[in-house]
Amino acid sequence: MIITKKKDIKDILASLEGKKTVYLFGCDSCAEQCATGGEKEIKEMTAILEENGIKVVGSSIPEETCYRQLILKDYRLKPELKEAEAVLVLACGAGVRTVADAAEETQPVLPALDSLFLASVERVGRFFEGCSLCGECVLDATGGICPHTECPKGLLNGPCGGVAQGMCEVNTECECAWVRIYKRLEKQGRLDALKKIAAPKDHSVGIRPRKVLLRETPRDAEKKNKK
Ligand code: SF4
Ligand code: SF4
Repeated sequence: MIITKKKDIKDILASLEGKKTVYLFGCDSCAEQCATGGEKEIKEMTAILEENGIKVVGSSIPEETCYRQLILKDYRLKPELKEAEAVLVLACGAGVRTVADAAEETQPVLPALDSLFLASVERVGRFFEGCSLCGECVLDATGGICPHTECPKGLLNGPCGGVAQGMCEVNTECECAWVRIYKRLEKQGRLDALKKIAAPKDHSVGIRPRKVLLRETPRDAEKKNKK
């Protein structure tokens, strides 16, 4: 799940300067769970914008705002969306990008949120970062705890010299990631895994932007045939 936080309303109003009409998108997936882009937040944003003289001509809360086909459907079925002077998206950056690609190039699509990290969900409203999407997973050797993400120094062969009574010297309220890795591997009888020096990460696998194309579209096939 992608964690988002609300942008300062002053910044949102500044980005909408000069606009008289706006259409809002929320997201019924991650942003709804983060309480940043569900029905309540769309209502709150509508009230604030209208108080500031910006008419909200409509809104949608797609199941997933990063799913292009759902957004294109709204653009097909809702003339008020096409006609709005701007679109404000209460979803993560992938949602903003998806709406921006579906909109006419002339229609500004603006973010209402900042996207923070990919989270594991402990329970409703409790999220923690356990993976940085590096493209080269090492969790097999670290008991499912990611040192690249959970050690603030990203040490792949920890711990560092700063660990004090099991606690991290940087995030002083957290147990050192490498202490947790050690304890878990010990319970699994797999301490031998720590004898192996982990190689530096191959950052070339994380060169952005990354793409996965599992299915060929008719347009892809057409392009291939032309080559
Ligand atoms: S090594 Fe860490 S950051 Fe990389 S994919 Fe695995 S969990 Fe994610
Ligand atoms: S104390 Fe542990 S988690 Fe903290 S920076 Fe050092 S190795 Fe990383």
